[in-house]
Amino acid sequence: RVVTRFAPSPTGFLHIGGARTALFNWLYARHTGGRMLLRIEDTDRERSTEAAVSAIIEGLDWLGLKADEPPVSQFERAARHREVAEELVAAGKAYHCYASQAELEEMRETARAEKRPPRYDGRWRDRNPAEAPAGVKPVVRLKAPLDGTTLVADKVQGDVRFPNKDLDDFVLLRSDGTPTYMHAVVVDDHDMGVTHIIRGDDHLTNAGRQTLIYQAMGWDVPIMAHIPLIHGADGAKLSKRHGALGVEAYREMGYLPDALLNYLARLGWSHGDDEVMSIADMVAWFDIVDVNKGAARFDFAKLDAVNGQWLRAADDTLLVDTLMRDRDVLPNGAILKARDETTTRRLLAAAMPGLKERAKTLVELTESAAYLFADRPLPLEPKAVEILDAGGRAIIAGVLPALEAVSEWTVAAIEAAVRDYAEANALKLGKAAQPLRAAMTGKTTSPGVFDVLAVVGRDETLARLRDQLP
Ligand code: GLU
Repeated sequence: RVVTRFAPSPTGFLHIGGARTALFNWLYARHTGGRMLLRIEDTDRERSTEAAVSAIIEGLDWLGLKADEPPVSQFERAARHREVAEELVAAGKAYHCYASQAELEEMRETARAEKRPPRYDGRWRDRNPAEAPAGVKPVVRLKAPLDGTTLVADKVQGDVRFPNKDLDDFVLLRSDGTPTYMHAVVVDDHDMGVTHIIRGDDHLTNAGRQTLIYQAMGWDVPIMAHIPLIHGADGAKLSKRHGALGVEAYREMGYLPDALLNYLARLGWSHGDDEVMSIADMVAWFDIVDVNKGAARFDFAKLDAVNGQWLRAADDTLLVDTLMRDRDVLPNGAILKARDETTTRRLLAAAMPGLKERAKTLVELTESAAYLFADRPLPLEPKAVEILDAGGRAIIAGVLPALEAVSEWTVAAIEAAVRDYAEANALKLGKAAQPLRAAMTGKTTSPGVFDVLAVVGRDETLARLRDQLP
């Protein structure tokens, strides 16, 4: 049975690259009928914060990427990390090293002078521990093989070979007894029964060193898949400007979680030409061997397009629920707080088929719903005022009696009334509709104007139109 894991370091929010790593792990676990675990890599006490842990868990919750078991804290497993390191020492696979800071600095100096990467020279590898200087706490180093190569048979990158002479006797345990990242990850992945490690390709070189620890312990090496990092639309490394933000920022920008997942899945993975995929489609189709090697480019315009498609296809009730839930998160959420909750829900539900047709984000959706909740006299955009001033008010005066005479306030009856008026006065329908839209929404674009009148209701419509009489 497949066991994947997502192993974020809680030093900041759940950023977009991390969300995609979590998604790939989650998809692969779902696809294979396995489990995804969550490990919080909080061994760096200086940089790890509780707030970051919450942000990560909330971000995953919002995206619907729930782990199948409660999160594991790496820090809390420190005793186990020590135990394994000592086991390796006892088996002669690791050793205590007493090299001083000055000695290590000297090794680095030499490497710099010779223009090669720094390497520990193995000076305590075969030395008698009895020679240990008194009062010095040693680090524990792995006795790494001196020659040959270490193979990482990566599912995405292919076979990657590391000459062992480049993988020096790296530290497993610091002199204060705390594990290094390299060591803790291996012990945890083994103990958690992880079968597949799916993570960013910035960890590929670590995979070589980690393989040596597995081999020293006689443990099975999990299957590795190092996925390409996300770059900006211009090909440069992802920065804030490009979208390297926490997932909560995407929520504030009005993206639907499923649309964001859909977009993220396609950063580095694809299924034919399918752009819009349901979560079920992705689960059915996803396989790590289909992930591309090349860096993927994050592009807000494409994310907007995908989100717009998700909005149009989304169930109206779900959208109303999402808007109501995110009122406090969306920058223009106050628009949805002007009326009581029942009224707001009713108006949104009635207007939703028209509203969702033209919005790319929930922020735009909220903005275009503003007319539903606006107080009279309606605030008008300058362009709307222009239309009203350029003959629009006379048209409203002309059409008003026809609307007042509508007995049953339906889209069809409203449309018929306006059409009759337009024909009788040799006006194009659009010409008659324009000032109505301006008066009803304060804008020059909106959902279908007859829908707007119908949703706003008879009394409020007539009042808004009368407000604009010449
Ligand atoms: N904690 C590491 C990170 O956030 C990931 C380690 C791993 O996936 O092995 O980059």
